[in-house]
Amino acid sequence: MITRRQWLYGVGLAASSGTQVGRAFSVAARNEDQEATLQLSKYEPRSMLHVHESHVERSKFPNIDFHTHISVSTKSEKGVELSPDREYLGTPQELLAVMDRKNIRAMVNLTGGYDNGLAETVAKYDRAYPGRFYTFTEPCYSRFKESDYPKLQAQAIERAHRDGARGLKILKTLGLYLRENITSGTLVKIDDARFDPMWDACGQLNLPVAIHISDPIAFFTPTDRFNERYEELNNHPDWSFYGQDFPSNAELIAARNRMIARHPNTKFVTVHVGNFSEDLQNVAENLDGFPNMSVDIAARIGELGRQPITARRFFDKYQDRILFGTDATPHGDEFPQQFFNDKLYEIYYRFLETKDEYFDYAPAKIPPQGRWRIYGIDLPDTVLHKVYSENAARLLRI
Ligand SMILES: [Zn+2]
Repeated sequence: MITRRQWLYGVGLAASSGTQVGRAFSVAARNEDQEATLQLSKYEPRSMLHVHESHVERSKFPNIDFHTHISVSTKSEKGVELSPDREYLGTPQELLAVMDRKNIRAMVNLTGGYDNGLAETVAKYDRAYPGRFYTFTEPCYSRFKESDYPKLQAQAIERAHRDGARGLKILKTLGLYLRENITSGTLVKIDDARFDPMWDACGQLNLPVAIHISDPIAFFTPTDRFNERYEELNNHPDWSFYGQDFPSNAELIAARNRMIARHPNTKFVTVHVGNFSEDLQNVAENLDGFPNMSVDIAARIGELGRQPITARRFFDKYQDRILFGTDATPHGDEFPQQFFNDKLYEIYYRFLETKDEYFDYAPAKIPPQGRWRIYGIDLPDTVLHKVYSENAARLLRI
């Protein structure tokens, strides 16, 4: 039997909330489970869309995950790592099991530290399983105040190279956390001349520099009702760079660009799509301006996948300078967009290889980096080959 309410919905009257009748009716039609207002954190809408769903278990070609974090510093303060000693987030055995299932030829562990911590990491992973792991070194900021730091840091890069490092990783420490007195004082700029010998050493030794200098543009705006990543920032207030003495995203990118321009013989991988995946036009202009720059896509398929047409054009044009990477962190279950597991890789493969529509960019109930879903970009085999491994293999000289 059709009730009066169902009949009204059927003819669309109930939805015409602009009329007096509709407004009165919609209040009356609310059922008992409904509340007048629903907390955003409790909202988990389920898509009613029925479209093709691919399940991509293995990447079409073997891949190199250029951006992972297998080891981290045991001591850090106010965003600055202060110890070379490493904590290991996953054993080689547990990582290799996922790698073999998911067709991952090698993982690049960007946060290998320096000195003995680096040497130990290289021995445990790279040397123990040749061809499966590559470790990057990091600056020793704890010595930043020493008067000959520029020279010491360049020498540390030479030692790291001898110890087996395959590149240098710069976390956003430089530009957003490192200060004149290491954890206090004014912020040190990305193009500070004291780092010039370090960039030059990397160029001379053919070590690529993976550099992270900024964050999603929403992190530089107030955490308010207009912020498209409100929930994420509300859960992690320390991720906001709005206010205080933080530079703007534009200032950070400008400082990075000045530094890259000064070191044309050093190869830079500007991670997270050049740290500006919301504006691929800007990333494209920088790629056009700097032949020594490439990008990885780590933790940014949420951004790329919500602009699939622009993203596909970007991949077609810069297919020789885009690297596959995920930001995978073993046991990093707090951050589903980078939790190292089978599901994470399946989502990346689906994004790159299929034309599926409107799917989750992270294995999570609520999209963790903004409430939207993504579309696949259906890359052709030639481009997939390059992005999955050829571009990284060339940079890593393997
Ligand atoms: Zn990372």
